[in-house]
Amino acid sequence: MDYDVAIIGGGPSGLMAAIGAAEQGARTILIEKGKKLGRKLAISGGGRCNVTSRLPKEEIIEHIPGNGQFLYSALSIFDNEDIITFFEELGVPLKEEDHGRMFPVSNSANDVVQALLTKLDQLNVKIMTNTSVEALDYGLSSHTVILANQTKIKVKSIVVAVGGKAVPHTGSTGDGYPWAKKAGHTISALYPTEVPLISKQLFIQKRELQGLALRNVRLNVKNKDNKPIVSHQMDMIFTHFGISGPAVLRCSQFVVKLLNKDHTQVSIYIDSIPGQNKEVLYQNYSQIINTSGKKSIKNILKGVVPERFLLFILAKCNIDPELRAANLSHEQLRSIIEELKAFEVIIHDSLPIEKAFVTGGGVSIKEIVPTTMASKLVERLFFCGEILDIHGYTGGYNITAALITGRLAGQNAAWQSL
Ligand SMILES: Cc1cc2nc3c(=O)[nH]c(=O)nc-3n(C[C@H](O)[C@H](O)[C@H](O)COP(=O)(O)OP(=O)(O)OC[C@H]3O[C@@H](n4cnc5c(N)ncnc54)[C@H](O)[C@@H]3O)c2cc1C
Repeated sequence: MDYDVAIIGGGPSGLMAAIGAAEQGARTILIEKGKKLGRKLAISGGGRCNVTSRLPKEEIIEHIPGNGQFLYSALSIFDNEDIITFFEELGVPLKEEDHGRMFPVSNSANDVVQALLTKLDQLNVKIMTNTSVEALDYGLSSHTVILANQTKIKVKSIVVAVGGKAVPHTGSTGDGYPWAKKAGHTISALYPTEVPLISKQLFIQKRELQGLALRNVRLNVKNKDNKPIVSHQMDMIFTHFGISGPAVLRCSQFVVKLLNKDHTQVSIYIDSIPGQNKEVLYQNYSQIINTSGKKSIKNILKGVVPERFLLFILAKCNIDPELRAANLSHEQLRSIIEELKAFEVIIHDSLPIEKAFVTGGGVSIKEIVPTTMASKLVERLFFCGEILDIHGYTGGYNITAALITGRLAGQNAAWQSL
């Protein structure tokens, strides 16, 4: 036997799995096809490494709409607070930012990755970088890892931690799915999540709002029967192909699912004044207009939304921005308020999975033991991280899922090998 445990993939799940396995005394090898470990981890959270989230467990699960409930057991063994302690003990104190997001105090992604590498070194984990795994052979008492150069490594347990298919230049090119299939696993259909959305509407094609950011707006996604599907309040931005930004990324998976199902297009309604009732707004502005009728409508509405957006809305409603407010009809005021509260963007597609932040779908969780991450089909085979059919919003939730599933997979792989 060459090693007790082989970990394939050096992302957050693989790094944590290797530490988990080696801490239990298993002879551990970590095989990574890129020249660096933790590349995607290092670019997460805008390059500062969004290690985890400080929200309560229930909220963490809510922020993992792709099978977050599967993580209940895992989180009861090793949770986000344990991740925070783990990094502090490695000498990387973390700080909390908006929405509970946790970052290294130093703001240096490199500190996080380096601390994990130092720990691997202390634990004598054998690390092979620039080494691509081509195939896995599963045996009764041992498994074989076959490298691209045809070298064979015989091990007791394998942890597959090769990630999904998003942003392939980081090394995650979907290599693990055929290995899972070979073991008999079902792969739930893959799709892009946390992904910018494409609209073919004329104003988008003409780039009329390109680069315009809207702060703290509420996006309401509705299906073709006008039924609300999901809603998120955060920032967003118009781009040259459609819309992007945090609120859009959060809504994106629901839009993609509708498009993949039976919708040719999906409407997202932007509420630029969330928290304020349409009718109350109408009454308020009617009063303001009554007392300041000499002002232009543009001046009356100044500051409610960015001027560029306001002018666009007024043009859409065929209203001259310089029109005296007193000359604005009730219907015109209602049409403006309708646009401010429910500006429709029609979505026709998303960017491809390669441009998504996270992969939806993956190795079916029904065939994975939730307390160990072991395959229910092949002994001493484990899966962790984004290769699993688990996906969350950006904000540390995917990394949290990767770290906790990685730790469990590594520990259990060790226990089943020794
Ligand atoms: C730009 C960006 C920003 C993000 N920001 C956030 C964020 O703020 N919050 C959040 O929660 N998530 C974020 N994510 C998602 C998060 O980074 C991933 O979900 C997480 O890295 C998945 O970890 P993983 O270990 O499963 O896989 P990965 O990090 O993808 O690592 C897999 C590793 O396996 C290696 N590998 C693949 N195939 C082979 C093979 N055949 N042989 C050997 N090695 C192989 C790859 O080279 C890679 O290093 C972001 C993603 C991107 C792209």
